[in-house]
Amino acid sequence: MAGWGTPASVALGAEDLAGVGPCRCDDLAMGSTQRRVRRALADISDTFVPGSPDRPSASRLGVPDAFLTVAATELRAAERRQLEALLSLWDTRVLTMAGGGGFRRFRDLSQEDREAVLLSWCDSRLPQRRAVFQALRKAITSLAYMLPASDGRNPAWDSIGYPGPPGRVADPSPKEIQTHPVDRDTTLDCDVCVVGSGAGGGTAAAVLADAGLDVVVVEAGDYLDDGDFDGSELDGYARLYLGAAALATADQGVGLYAGSCLGGGTVVNFTTAFRTSDAIRAEWASQGVPDLASDDYTASLDAVWDRLGVSTDHSRPSRREQVMQQGLEALGWHADLMPRNVRGCDDAVCGFSPFGCLAGAKQSTTKTWLVDAWRRGARILVNTRAERVVVEHGGARGVRARTSDGHEVTVRARAVVVAAGAVHTPALLRRSGLENQNIGRHLRLHPVTGVAGVFEEEIRPWEGVMQAVYSDELADLHDGYGMKLESAPFHPSVLAMYSPWRSARQHQDLMGRLAHLVPIGLLLRDSSEGEVRTGRDGEPVVHYRLNDFDIGHVRTGLDGAAQVLEAAGATSVFSAHKDWVTYEPGRGRGRRGFLEAADRCGWGAGQCVFTSFHLMGSARMGGSPSDSACNPEGETWEARGVYVVDGSTFPSASGVNPMITIEAIAHLNASRLAGVLAGS
Ligand SMILES: Cc1cc2nc3c(=O)[nH]c(=O)nc-3n(C[C@H](O)[C@H](O)[C@H](O)COP(=O)(O)OP(=O)(O)OC[C@H]3O[C@@H](n4cnc5c(N)ncnc54)[C@H](O)[C@@H]3O)c2cc1C
Repeated sequence: MAGWGTPASVALGAEDLAGVGPCRCDDLAMGSTQRRVRRALADISDTFVPGSPDRPSASRLGVPDAFLTVAATELRAAERRQLEALLSLWDTRVLTMAGGGGFRRFRDLSQEDREAVLLSWCDSRLPQRRAVFQALRKAITSLAYMLPASDGRNPAWDSIGYPGPPGRVADPSPKEIQTHPVDRDTTLDCDVCVVGSGAGGGTAAAVLADAGLDVVVVEAGDYLDDGDFDGSELDGYARLYLGAAALATADQGVGLYAGSCLGGGTVVNFTTAFRTSDAIRAEWASQGVPDLASDDYTASLDAVWDRLGVSTDHSRPSRREQVMQQGLEALGWHADLMPRNVRGCDDAVCGFSPFGCLAGAKQSTTKTWLVDAWRRGARILVNTRAERVVVEHGGARGVRARTSDGHEVTVRARAVVVAAGAVHTPALLRRSGLENQNIGRHLRLHPVTGVAGVFEEEIRPWEGVMQAVYSDELADLHDGYGMKLESAPFHPSVLAMYSPWRSARQHQDLMGRLAHLVPIGLLLRDSSEGEVRTGRDGEPVVHYRLNDFDIGHVRTGLDGAAQVLEAAGATSVFSAHKDWVTYEPGRGRGRRGFLEAADRCGWGAGQCVFTSFHLMGSARMGGSPSDSACNPEGETWEARGVYVVDGSTFPSASGVNPMITIEAIAHLNASRLAGVLAGS
């Protein structure tokens, strides 16, 4: 089960939701295996979230159906088979006994005994069993706090003080781009085909079109804009995120978040805009990409900065961040405002912008570069997935793609710019027959774990500007490696994803404290390297494990974030471990005991929750084909005219939130490509 890493394990479009109601476990029309699977899922769901007098159980809310819908649409065939095999055996005496429940069937156990069986998976020494537990926990608990009942609201929201999404805006601005319609098998001719329309692809498309080149953009996701968003987690994850945000590393160690829509990650991201630091530019130059330390790159950074309107004009800290800032200041630690790429940001709805910006303020590529490209004549195809880059005689000839309706699209082009994001770019290159051993390797993730403080005051951590304050106090612990301290909007599914589950009661109590929490994220600059492997089906599978050097830094960060929360007045502090790792400042063994408990629990997959929002380095640029996939201009070493311009190109982790760096690299290398094509 390589998927199911995140709360959002909810691939339901609005139309699917209409059919999600109370569990239909006893539907006799189903085959017996399917019945067993559904029944097991209902029993497991109701053990995680049994319901209470004021709210229905997970199965009555429709969690099993939602879960199976996601599995059907987002899991690879092999993963689906594994899931089905496990769940169809779940209610057998043998499997219950293996979980310490005696020679009985799971469904015959009391709630307490069922919880003990689930915890045996959670605490298992076998990483595979922990992975199963974590995948089930994240999917089921987060769905239970996202799915609507018949009145359109989740029944738990009132009791945890969550207002629910703001809903659609009454008078949205019209969409600025007209996408190119494809209603039959189609062949298009152009100069450059750009695959992917996120930070890298969107920027490259604009630069190339501005140079007078004929550009076709092929984007797998849909075009959604202000009027399509309603601020809901469920809808946002389902329609805007890669794999409905249910993606994770193969061992469930890191949940993987990325955008998948026109504009890619720039539509869902937090609008934090940092320039590439001089230290990183020098490091990358020494790794064979000297141009990243050049004046040309500085000019590209400036161009991106201007086009996105980056400033601190809208960096007004939310209550959640004011508290973090107070803690940082009380300790005398570094704290500063984040620059942001927004115009006319509205604090009242900004916290819901990870699910699409309702105010139209976020300067995503759909509001900037893609509009520029379209105005210059670029044809933009959505719901169209590139299946392979066509390479003949060592050079690019175009792209073969398919629409979600099944129409074949052939794009004939003089050059192909690949910007499908750091998970799909290497898979696309492999499907296209490229063999360089570095394709897929050197993946960096900036893994994030968190520490949260409980405050007496009501914080409402989903409110206000998404991100406005950060600290670099721990950014350089050794050799430029360490972490940024950042906070982000905390919605119910986010708490469900990061929080430990030791019993249904404990979990419900914790969810009930949501409104009083201040989370601090540890955004690690990782030296660990993962790999995107490509399965026989041509789809990516992500492998990643933190090394001891990085774990040492996370440990320091955990202690640091706890100090900040303590200094800000938290009554208790807890981590994102599988165990309930917590302490009350001034009582017991304090932070020392907190760290010891975290160490006892462990830092590996299934022991501490990590997520990644920054996917980088999986087709990196460098000075030689022996240690990189692309040359310093972003062209693959083995296929002329095939360029990569997305986060995959980073020689290592950027250390700062990567959007500006991706766009600047795309700007620089697309400008050069335009020069090459103009002269040929
Ligand atoms: C929730 C969230 C918050 C973030 N916050 C910030 C932030 O505040 N600041 C910051 O700097 N960064 C942030 N990031 C990261 C940043 O948004 C990404 O690093 C950036 O968007 C990646 O750019 P990219 O070009 O590599 O890929 P993406 O932006 O991911 O674009 C890739 C596109 O390719 C498409 N695609 C994939 N496969 C195919 C195919 N086969 N054919 C056609 N199209 C395909 C995808 O649908 C997607 O639209 C955040 C990310 C997330 C998910």
